[in-house]
Formats: sequence, C-alpha cells, structure tokens
Amino acid sequence: MRIGFHVSIAGGFSRSVERAFGLGCTCMQIFSRNPRGWTAKPLDPDDIAGFKTLRKKRDIAPVFVHTNYLINLASPRDDLFEKSIEHFIVDLERAERLGAEYLVIHLGSASGRDAEWMIGRVSQALNEAMQLHPPQAVILLENTAGEAGDVGYALEQIGEVISRLGDSVRIGICYDTCHGFAAGYDVRTKKDVNALVKKIEATVGLERLKGMHVNDCLLEFRSHRDRHWHIGEGKIGLGAFKVLLNHPVFREIPMIMETPKKTEADDPRNMEVVKSLIR
Ligand code: MN
Ligand code: MN
Ligand code: ZN
Repeated sequence: MRIGFHVSIAGGFSRSVERAFGLGCTCMQIFSRNPRGWTAKPLDPDDIAGFKTLRKKRDIAPVFVHTNYLINLASPRDDLFEKSIEHFIVDLERAERLGAEYLVIHLGSASGRDAEWMIGRVSQALNEAMQLHPPQAVILLENTAGEAGDVGYALEQIGEVISRLGDSVRIGICYDTCHGFAAGYDVRTKKDVNALVKKIEATVGLERLKGMHVNDCLLEFRSHRDRHWHIGEGKIGLGAFKVLLNHPVFREIPMIMETPKKTEADDPRNMEVVKSLIR
C-alpha cells in the first residue's frame, strides 16, 4: 500500500522529498507554489532534477500536486474564470515539469448559481484548458464537502463533468474521506463503505479512482463543512478507517493524509495510527 502526507515545499522541492521520507511516506502530495497567491516563482532546474532523483531513490510514488486555491473553474465572473483556466494550466505545467503523476483540483464554486450551471462551466473550463495544453499528468477531480456555493460534493456531479469532456483519457478522481463524510457519504460501517464503492463505480467508474485523501472529520456527518481532523480522532472514527484502509478496492489506491500539523508530533502519530489499522 502507498501512504503519504501532503508535505511542505519550504526550502525547495528536493527538501519536500526528504520531509516525506522522514515521515515514512511512500507517496506524497505538494503544492507547486504558494496556494493562496497568484504568483509563482520560476522552477529551478537543479531543484527539479534533485526532486526527481531523490524521489526515485526514496521510492516515493506517485506524487500528487494540488492546485492553487484561488483557481475557480466554476466562477461566474468572466475575468476570474479566464484567469483560473490560465493558472490551472500553470499548475498543470509545473506538475508535469516536476514529473508528478497527478494534479488534484476542486471543481469550484459559484454562489447563486445551481449545480447544473456550475457543471457546464467547469466542463467548459477543463475542455478549454486541455485544448490549450494537452495534459501529460492525470488531472484528478476531488470531491468537496458541499460548502455554500461549491460543486463536486456529489459523485454524480463529478461523473457528469467527466462525461462532458471531449477527451477524458487523462481524467480521474481523488476521493477525500473528510469531504465525502461532510457531504453525506457515510463510511462508519462496512455496509456504508461497500455502498460508497458501489457509488463510485456507478458514477465515475472505479478505474478513474486514482487517489484518496484520508482525513478524519472534526464535524458531524453531513455538516457540509470542510474541517480535517486526525485519523481516528474525529467523527469518522478509528473503526471506519480500519474498514476503509483494508477494503480490497481502496487498498490499491495511493492514500494521502491532509491532517492538521499543529505540532511536530501530529504527522508521526497519524502515520502510526494508519499503519496500525492496516492488516
Ligand atoms: Mn483539496
Ligand atoms: Mn483533500
Ligand atoms: Zn478539505
């Protein structure tokens, strides 16, 4: 099984590999730049080369790059919509230059518009982006918590977006357990987990599932709020993760934790808990 964390790129991309390796990761996720700003430092070729060499040496694969948070492919504002497409391509190019296998993106939000409108908007954005820059990395659509105005909280919506893409060969999904739980996909019993697998199969297809974000959830089931928590210490709970992590379908999928990092002890503890649950 491949398990890792979202790790910081402070000090360079090469350092992020050592950071991940030090935490016992066998896969990892990073941002390729400050996720809350529009600027991006040019990539340093030496750092990229170091990153690629080190991840091979440390056998860390796959690498997920998470897109910038300002990108909103569902934005009703034309200027922000165009800027989002532009920056999505920037993130895609950066992920590819880093040799990352996957780029993770949220579908976006548009308060005041209905899901159908947003699905059309996101599909248009992805089609435009992929025409301007045919992807090498696989683009993963991540399910969301269903916070006010966002889209992609229902797997049917993600499936609908995929069905509207001219070319979906390099499109997959990344399933976030916290977002799913907040949005109404229960996983607290074996039956729930099996139902979720069936749902993924029916809406997007299991072959599209390329990554999991394994996060517990601080808030109640169906809270529609995105608050990640430590594995086993939230409302999803230890028992659910035991079933999830050992499910024959999910076991094959690389898992990334995006759990809080309030103290130095948090990541090691979450890794230990996850490893202790795996049979
Ligand atoms: Mn995300
Ligand atoms: Mn996530
Ligand atoms: Zn989240």
